[in-house]
Amino acid sequence: MIVGVLVELSNKNIDKEFFYLVPDELVSNIKVGIRVVVPFGTQKLEGFVLEIKNDKEIDIELKEIFSIVDSEVILSNELLKLGKVMQEKTLSTLISCYQVMLPKALKAKNGVIINKKYDIYYKLGNIPEHLSKGQEKIIKLFENKNVVSREEIVSISSSILRTLESKNILVKDKVEHYRLDYDKVTKREYILTKEQRSVVDEIENSKDLVYLLHGVTGSGKTEVYIELICNIISKGKTAIVLVPEISLTPQMVKRFTERFGNRIAALHSALSEGEKYDEWRRIMRGEVEIVIGARSALFAPISNLGLIVIDEEHSDTYKQDDSSPRYNAIEMSIERAKLNKNCKVVLGSATPSLDSYARGKKDVYHLVSLPNRVNKKPLPNIEIIDMNKNLKNMRGHFSNILIEKIKSKIDLGEQVILLLNRRGYSSFISCKDCGYVFKCPNCDITLTYHKSTNNLRCHYCGYAEGMVDICPNCNNHSIDTIGVGTEKIEEELKLFIPKARIVRMDFDTTTKKGSHKKIVKEFSEHRYDILLGTQIVAKGLDFENVTLVGVINADTSLNIPDFRSSETTFSLLSQVAGRSGRKDKEGEVILQTFNKEHYAIRYVKYHDYLGFYNMEMQIRRELKYPPFYFLTYIRVSGKDNNICYKESLKIKKSLEKYLDKTIILGPSSSSLFKVNNVYRYGIILKYKKQDNLIPVLEKMIDVYKSNRKVIVDLNFNPRHF
Ligand code: ADP
Ligand code: ZN
Repeated sequence: MIVGVLVELSNKNIDKEFFYLVPDELVSNIKVGIRVVVPFGTQKLEGFVLEIKNDKEIDIELKEIFSIVDSEVILSNELLKLGKVMQEKTLSTLISCYQVMLPKALKAKNGVIINKKYDIYYKLGNIPEHLSKGQEKIIKLFENKNVVSREEIVSISSSILRTLESKNILVKDKVEHYRLDYDKVTKREYILTKEQRSVVDEIENSKDLVYLLHGVTGSGKTEVYIELICNIISKGKTAIVLVPEISLTPQMVKRFTERFGNRIAALHSALSEGEKYDEWRRIMRGEVEIVIGARSALFAPISNLGLIVIDEEHSDTYKQDDSSPRYNAIEMSIERAKLNKNCKVVLGSATPSLDSYARGKKDVYHLVSLPNRVNKKPLPNIEIIDMNKNLKNMRGHFSNILIEKIKSKIDLGEQVILLLNRRGYSSFISCKDCGYVFKCPNCDITLTYHKSTNNLRCHYCGYAEGMVDICPNCNNHSIDTIGVGTEKIEEELKLFIPKARIVRMDFDTTTKKGSHKKIVKEFSEHRYDILLGTQIVAKGLDFENVTLVGVINADTSLNIPDFRSSETTFSLLSQVAGRSGRKDKEGEVILQTFNKEHYAIRYVKYHDYLGFYNMEMQIRRELKYPPFYFLTYIRVSGKDNNICYKESLKIKKSLEKYLDKTIILGPSSSSLFKVNNVYRYGIILKYKKQDNLIPVLEKMIDVYKSNRKVIVDLNFNPRHF
């Protein structure tokens, strides 16, 4: 028997099957989709079995595999196919596409061992005639039981136990134990509103593949997902629910558990590798019907998939930008759905990405909507505070109006969420007095400050200008890069409202495992009055007692050096506003800004998604940005700045020759120009239709795959540059 094996090294040169002989004693255990250990040059590597050949003519030149790692298949046929599709879409190595699907414990990598956990049990063995007092006491424990767990006999020392075991009086046994326990919750079920019901019916009665559910904040999208899943499960199928990140997982898991009990597995970044491994095995063994998790949960080894839900589909966490394979989880979900008969994909958001909504309008996605809140109340009123005018009436970073409002809410026994917008912080330069921001004259993109060269640069086209310290708008000496953190805001709050009970939630306070869940739980039990945080507080949270949302600085995200900065801001502010007044009490929002007139802020004030969409689409069309054009980012990096730059120029020149319908920008130094002494340049491709794009880019990668001086990476339609 011969097997084709894809080894663990992610290197374009060896990213293909290598063939090995299987020794006779291993033949019966070989399956496609398991890991094996093979000789590779002088090394010993792990790899995945992709193919089995029962060839008669055996090539005796082939080496034999050393051993088999898995008894169960870890890459099903479906996932093997999906990996190939991902490779074609991202042009990364096939091995990286498979590795990204698996928890660390199951990745092909020699030497990584993550153990299963076991519960230890004892059974009675042969009881001798004469027992010591101590032994008798232990035997008594078995009076009404067949087995006794180690926990029940903690008081007995291990040396006594060992003696009993060696005399065969007690027999040790072990049962596999999953690390995660789900909280017990009481069952709960809602009767869908008429609007929810008609959305569910429309999705179920239609034959389309992808649906975009545009539902305002608090319109009950989650309940729609739950109902759809319920019906899928009753047909014997399964579902995957993707959420943007850990911040949403606890509440989502809780709502699903209330309905489905423990037939759910959760996969997210806060789990330990051991826990991920356990959850993964529960899924593979068919012990769950629903998987909830962040981006990579889309690769969960669940079979018989009937539905994939992507909540908060506008979230940029669905695109893996930072490492290869740079895949888009929405795109890959659709591909996965295609591999399952009648499987549907439902994308949901109050502020769909422009790309998705444009597809909805063109009927590429089937558009459904929930225009009203479940509680039949209007969306919260949004008051805009003009910081340019209000600077005199400020206390620290707070306008008097916001402080007074917070106080009155606390007096009423209601709760407050405060957002400190830190998106795009400190990468741009602005005037502290008037909020002026420097922009590229060619691209309408915020310029980024480069400390090493003390100038401002555009990451799209490479434009640069010198740093100044006087604001060209108001002529004050107030140009600044430094931003404020949540600690500082908390200090101010304590000073102005001493009685307020404040809890902070940002990436610093939530890195510890479970801390996030704890904050969510304690805030919902009203142990705090104010939840203060970065954009992590904007997404999806559902607290019934929150009636005020305050945004301390609406603007920073307008200045992210990215053509999506208005969209990001509109969506972030709409989402955070949507946390207010979700149940019986009506909510309100106070939004502090330097850019009162900016269209993103204006449309947020009127909860006008469509207005924003139309305006932004016009701008995108004019400036040739997505969704009118596709973008692809080519990164050239290396230790030698000169060589790096020269190679980027060379790439640009040759691409210009072959890609006749593509606009090519750069090379420009990227936002992280020099990291760990590695220099980076970026080339941006903009195109509507370029038929030969993939072969040309493949050729480029091929040319550079053995180059030791520079590395060339590709990112199709990145969310971050
Ligand atoms: P969205 O995800 O659209 O922001 P949610 O699904 O979180 O909205 O629903 C908002 C609130 O309304 C939640 O507290 C939810 O429990 C409640 N809710 C949703 N659907 C119903 C319903 N049919 N009957 C009663 N309450 C509902
Ligand atoms: Zn530019």
